[in-house]
Amino acid sequence: MQTLTLRCTLKPTLEQAAALEATVRLFAEACNHALRVARERGEFRRFKLHRLVYRDLRSMGLSANLAVQAIARVGRKKGNRAKFYQPTSCTFDQRTLSLRGESVSLTTTAGRLIVPMKLGDYQRGMLAKARGVQGGVLTRGPKGKWYINLSIRVEVPTPPTGGKVVGLDMGQRYMATLSSGIQVSGGGVKSRRIHLRNKRAEVRSRLDTERTKGLSALWERLCGRERRFVDHTLHTLAKRIVDSLEPGDTLAIEDLTGLRSRTAQRGKEARYLHNLWPYARFRSLLEYKAALRGVRVVAVDPRHTSQECPRCGHTARENRRSQALFRCTGCGFQHNADWVAATNIARRAGSTGMGRCKPARILRVSSPHRLSSESPRL
Ligand SMILES: [Zn+2]
Repeated sequence: MQTLTLRCTLKPTLEQAAALEATVRLFAEACNHALRVARERGEFRRFKLHRLVYRDLRSMGLSANLAVQAIARVGRKKGNRAKFYQPTSCTFDQRTLSLRGESVSLTTTAGRLIVPMKLGDYQRGMLAKARGVQGGVLTRGPKGKWYINLSIRVEVPTPPTGGKVVGLDMGQRYMATLSSGIQVSGGGVKSRRIHLRNKRAEVRSRLDTERTKGLSALWERLCGRERRFVDHTLHTLAKRIVDSLEPGDTLAIEDLTGLRSRTAQRGKEARYLHNLWPYARFRSLLEYKAALRGVRVVAVDPRHTSQECPRCGHTARENRRSQALFRCTGCGFQHNADWVAATNIARRAGSTGMGRCKPARILRVSSPHRLSSESPRL
């Protein structure tokens, strides 16, 4: 069993939309109240915070379940970094959210609402497979559209045995290179990300001196835009990778957890996606998409994967001639550097032999920045 998030667009009536609006507004007010109290008391532990604010929240008109969710949202993070909660989302649990065919039933401030969902084939398929729903998060998009991110439980297939082991190397020039020969180029993704970052940094520095409403709003918009862009790119990338594998295969990735803090690895670290992308998030996306397809994911030691010769095992920094070229100073073996790294990763996960050196098939990630937040998340 695996829990995953399924994003569905809602089609509320005008009256329902008003009720949803009132609910997220009240929920945000509750979160902000809880946050204020937590700050004043220096108390972010969930159960202590519950004792401090539960009654206030109930008297604000929040249902018991929503009050618990608001406290959970404020209390769960260590020394909560949130400054303020925007009225754009609200968390429902199993008691306040349930499915009714192709509608979702939500307990709002205006009572129980049955809101129709707009489902595509993908969502229908996932809902048919779902063994249960464990609540979800209602969100309002930037253009006023409503979405529900459902937490569904899905039975995952037991992977058949005997598949191949495929290594994944993540880099800057190519976002992903698989030892099977497939490469996913970032296209304009990297420059777009850097552009968004720079723009955000610029607004950030201006915010220090001129704290206007317009500027704050711009800041929020930029953060949201960047978050959605990153999310969409990582989803697309993970999907490309997993779709190229067969059930029973094993995907080997580098275990980069904690690498960020290891200063000794900085030179190598600069090569990695996770400089610019949240690695943990990407890994969990990969893992759950792989699980659904019957593909195992294993993480291997990441040290020197780009410096080791797959033919003779000679490991030296000089083997890596450039960003693109690997040439072994021991035996003269030479190949695409990303492919060499991916092959080493596969071997560390038990792949035997180096396979045939196929010319790389290039897949491109469609330019995700043109897609809005309503694109499917999985
Ligand atoms: Zn060699």
